[in-house]
Amino acid sequence: MICEPSPDCAICPRLHAFLAEWREKEPGWHNAPVPPFLPVGSDETVELLIVGLAPGLRGANRTGRPFTGDYAGDLLYRTLGDFGFARGKFEARPDDSLKLEGTAIVNAVRCVPPENKPTATEINHCRQFLVPAIRRFPHLRAIVTLGTIAHQSTIRALGQPVSKHPFGHGRMSIVDGIRVFSSYHCSRYNTNTGVLTEEMFRDVFRAVREFLG
Ligand code: SF4
Repeated sequence: MICEPSPDCAICPRLHAFLAEWREKEPGWHNAPVPPFLPVGSDETVELLIVGLAPGLRGANRTGRPFTGDYAGDLLYRTLGDFGFARGKFEARPDDSLKLEGTAIVNAVRCVPPENKPTATEINHCRQFLVPAIRRFPHLRAIVTLGTIAHQSTIRALGQPVSKHPFGHGRMSIVDGIRVFSSYHCSRYNTNTGVLTEEMFRDVFRAVREFLG
């Protein structure tokens, strides 16, 4: 089942107004809900889904592709390439040669929130699009959640209480037959403050690769 928000989705009035403001300021930007980044080929090839928080203002909100155009993508796509989840060259623009391999990427909240902070209501609203974004992949075996918000929304999207599957960097939970690996978000803030090192991030994807084979 595929269910995507309309390009002018107004379910969250604050985010809808924020996008309208940026459409005025930067008419050349994407400035709309950001769709999932899918691999070449059918949904049947996807075994790994990565769930991020929300588009960055000058990243995915500008370019229209998750994790493309700001620092978080540099670390994410370099790591995906190293573990065989992507190939080609990441050049921080949607028409570069980067291709995902058996992997898809989506955000828990599709519209850019002011200061990267969606409200609980907005997270809950947008879960109606996260649920089908997970369910569309019939052979999905693993999910990597980036940060607490993405993790909790994913657990809820899988129909489980977050108290049963709490977030923790490097933790793994089995939820509804899917292995959910959680990681601190690969934001510049987290790497600059030492909350997340490149090696810690690589360890998460190394574990996913060992599981998927
Ligand atoms: S965040 Fe999701 S539910 Fe809210 S307006 Fe954007 S697409 Fe719609």
